[in-house]
Amino acid sequence: MPENNYTLFELQDLDIKKKSLINGITNIDKKLEDSLGIKELNLNLELVIKKLNEQKKAQIKINQLRELNEYEINNLNTRLYSGQIRNNKEAEAIKFEIESKNETVQQISTRNDKVNENIKKIDQIKENLELKILSSEEKWIDIKNNLLLDQKKYKQHLEKIYTERVKISKKIDKQLLNLYERFFSLNGNFGIVKIDNDLSPCCKIKLPNAFVEKVKISPTPIICNCGKSLIME
Ligand SMILES: [Zn+2]
Repeated sequence: MPENNYTLFELQDLDIKKKSLINGITNIDKKLEDSLGIKELNLNLELVIKKLNEQKKAQIKINQLRELNEYEINNLNTRLYSGQIRNNKEAEAIKFEIESKNETVQQISTRNDKVNENIKKIDQIKENLELKILSSEEKWIDIKNNLLLDQKKYKQHLEKIYTERVKISKKIDKQLLNLYERFFSLNGNFGIVKIDNDLSPCCKIKLPNAFVEKVKISPTPIICNCGKSLIME
């Protein structure tokens, strides 16, 4: 087999390594972007804090409303027992108003209980989220450093492969190189294959005898019957 042909396989080995290194670098980029989901957790925390503040505002309003009603009940009671009420009808009206305001206070209390319960629940969720963020951030420091270190190694390795690739490419016939590169990018992981017991590894097709002979006598790789790869003996 001419030297030129071995070189194509050397190039293919480099291209396979190159592809896996690029994948590795991309995967690390994704992990760095995700940061153990810390960004997402922080967004959730913001939403939870917003809800909590809404409930706390509602709580203040409820308390003000209750105080107002209690103040009014107090005033009504003062009036009722002041001795200035002239007739029963007026007294009845005041009593009725007090009763109705007491009912309102009851309703406000129920609402207040509900809001208090919400605040307690949301507070718990907030606390859990904060703990989760804290522990994720702690873990993330080491993980991130390791990822960055790995990525740096991959990039250095990739640089070497690029340099090596340029050197090897120069030894290969330009036309063959173009064919190989086109096939490699189309197939994803091969651009040249070796015939295997009259079988083509690229398309897994049993090749006709005449074609096998053609491959065998050709000094350079030729295009497989399927048209998807270079093939040689
Ligand atoms: Zn084929």
